[in-house]
Amino acid sequence: MQTKNISEFIEKNKLPKYRFKQIIKAVYVDNVTDFSEITTIPKDLREKLSRQINILSFSVIQVLASKDKKSFKALLALSDGKKIETVLISPLSGQWSACLSSQTGCALGCKFCATGALGSGRNLNSEEICDQILFWRQYFKKFEIAGNFSNVVFMGMGEPFLNYDEIKKSIRQLLDPELFNFSARHISVSTAGIPVGIKNFAKDFPQLNLAISLNSALDRKRSELMPINKRFNLGKIKNALDFYLQKTKRKIFLEYIMLENINDSKEDADKLAEFIRKFERQDLLHVNLIRHNQTIPEFTPSSQDRVRQFKNYLLRNKISVSIRKSLGDEIKAACGQLAGK
Ligand code: SF4
Repeated sequence: MQTKNISEFIEKNKLPKYRFKQIIKAVYVDNVTDFSEITTIPKDLREKLSRQINILSFSVIQVLASKDKKSFKALLALSDGKKIETVLISPLSGQWSACLSSQTGCALGCKFCATGALGSGRNLNSEEICDQILFWRQYFKKFEIAGNFSNVVFMGMGEPFLNYDEIKKSIRQLLDPELFNFSARHISVSTAGIPVGIKNFAKDFPQLNLAISLNSALDRKRSELMPINKRFNLGKIKNALDFYLQKTKRKIFLEYIMLENINDSKEDADKLAEFIRKFERQDLLHVNLIRHNQTIPEFTPSSQDRVRQFKNYLLRNKISVSIRKSLGDEIKAACGQLAGK
């Protein structure tokens, strides 16, 4: 829903201004799923709102839950029939994080990614992006899920920095205390490495978190896995990250999906350490190792042992690193598995 729909409605019906606040609070803070639930406004007004405005800009086709109830995935149909997926996961006990999609496909075609296999899609508008949060908040309330839903990551379908204007608008709404009221430090954006997007993000949102999907520190190998690297190679990414670090002094997360016999050798770890050592502020770079989630059959996840060896090699080289547990594999809601199916 766009707040401007409500302000236009108020104006058109010559209603007092305080009605706007009541309706906005009911939708964004109390998470009503239907205007008929708003008991603070007259019945005829509720009915009129229900007839004229939709709270969510999409319809929900299906929601899947993992057995341990720590990850949920929803398939949504947008108004033009395009489908997207959005995820709610609990990476830590009692903490919940929504993973948002920003496009209906992805033109970047990373070889290990199910969204990339779909090819390019259209950009989502800020309403479609923010409504994913509205939906998960409604779901959270309806099923009385315990815990704190305080994190948002832009790691779903699409490359956020190829849809920068709408991402920017949606982040402003996520931060708005009258609307979603998320804390800046609890919002993260992940990119395949679009330098202009990284620089704009540093200028516009120096308090948010940035993650780079790196996956190899060898240009030749990275270009094979992520064709965008032919256009924006590691040198260009490093320049943009230097700018980011200088501007924000904030930690950057380097995401590294571990693929058996592709990017998990000692040489790969060595190249990664070498890449990180080139940064003046290498203390602000943190590597997250993620075992590949088998979506694309050509790739096999690295073994647990191999991931541990890779991590230990980096630690011996004084690189800050952790192994990130991947959730949602069972319902294909994990990294690189979203395909709007
Ligand atoms: Fe696009 Fe991200 Fe998938 Fe690459 S990993 S194809 S950038 S959605």
